[in-house]
Amino acid sequence: MTKLLAGGPVITLDGDRRVIDPGAVVVEDDRIVAVGPLDEFRANYPDAEEVDLSNAAILPGLIDSHGHAGHGMTKALGDGADDWLELVAEIYFRQSDTEFWRAESFLSALEHIEFGVTTSLSMTGSMPRVDDPKYAVAASRGYAELGLRHIVALGPPNTPWPATYRDVETGRETSIGLDAMMETVGAAIDQLNGTEDGRISVFVGPSALVAELDSEGNATPAAIEAMRRVYRMSEERGVYIHSHAYAGQLLAAAESYPDILTPKLTLAHCAGISLDEVQIMADNGVNATHGPLTHAFAAARFPLTEALEAGVNVLISTDGSGPDRSFDLLSQGRIAAQLQRAYFADTSILPAGRILEMMTIDPARAFGMDDEIGSLEAGKKADIIAVDLRSARMGPRFMPLERVVYVGSGLDVEFMMVDGQVLKQDHQIVGLDIDTILDDADRAARQTYERAGMLDRLASHPTTWGNTRYS
Ligand SMILES: [Zn+2]
Repeated sequence: MTKLLAGGPVITLDGDRRVIDPGAVVVEDDRIVAVGPLDEFRANYPDAEEVDLSNAAILPGLIDSHGHAGHGMTKALGDGADDWLELVAEIYFRQSDTEFWRAESFLSALEHIEFGVTTSLSMTGSMPRVDDPKYAVAASRGYAELGLRHIVALGPPNTPWPATYRDVETGRETSIGLDAMMETVGAAIDQLNGTEDGRISVFVGPSALVAELDSEGNATPAAIEAMRRVYRMSEERGVYIHSHAYAGQLLAAAESYPDILTPKLTLAHCAGISLDEVQIMADNGVNATHGPLTHAFAAARFPLTEALEAGVNVLISTDGSGPDRSFDLLSQGRIAAQLQRAYFADTSILPAGRILEMMTIDPARAFGMDDEIGSLEAGKKADIIAVDLRSARMGPRFMPLERVVYVGSGLDVEFMMVDGQVLKQDHQIVGLDIDTILDDADRAARQTYERAGMLDRLASHPTTWGNTRYS
């Protein structure tokens, strides 16, 4: 079946960064077969089924390069009390069953469709849950079944090790060390990587690049051993590595186990890293992914502009969807830019085109997927969105790239296709029982909070009104 997606401007993100207006994208089955001028293509493909996107800008599907499974169920939990990380650790490690992870994955996958994000990456948990591969498998189901492209990041949590988990279904507690953790990661790779026609992938995803630093800022022996295992598994299985990093960890890794610093590694946050550490990333081709609304960035600055200038491939991500943000990736690009502009008092920083690259072709390259996704080019997978330009906020109809980047949100996405499958058309999500997904999530969340004794943490904080700070 051949489809002619008839724009509107087509913002290709191809090698020449062409913007064709009005343009068209021709799709056959799961692939893009041609991108070019609308008039010419109408003549060349008279039998194609035409999809009218004349009031929209057609773009490659957005790629959210960092997020977390589980957070869809724990948004705003305990807001104001500053113990969210402890609450979710208790839920994810000790109070969650596979139904929690399955229901959360459908909810979060649906949210990605709402926001036009065709490819996303989620760690299974805040720190990964690695006592049994069944949790990572459950956390991938929504993305698999709703037709999205998704990467599961699974690896050792931070120390102390052994890590203790509780299986709600059997009531059994287990304490597992690095061997068993890596066994679970290997099993998840075996079970999931490359499934659903290649839409589901697994990366080795330790919670931190360096699991533990000693008082002098060096990687401990346990942390070095973890890096060695992570790197070895990535090499043996041919999968990439994804992790968080904070001040000092890049320096410690460079000194103790530099093999891990490669272009196959993407690091989230990099909050508080020094310019020497930026240079380590640049020298080794390590990618950074930056969420401008994350608590990590609020606590310690990631030198984003400096990293770009040093040549680091920096990506924009949500770190969604909690505690105080969503998976609306498109809006994060301009927020990242505006925070840099304010910091340097310089509005020339981060042009609109550059911002869009950081949510499309750049993450595709960081994940080794740029042969398949990240731009609209003949031969690539048909992962395509269209952003509605026919609204007061987008009008008048000039400068579509700048309007999409500076004004657009994911909710402006009116059309979405992944692997040639239409998931959204005319602003409507296609072929899904949305009520069931929402009801299942409500039920699984309530059961989990009841089990964990945390229902009272769903109330607004008593100091939420009339105060400058929560107290
Ligand atoms: Zn994160």
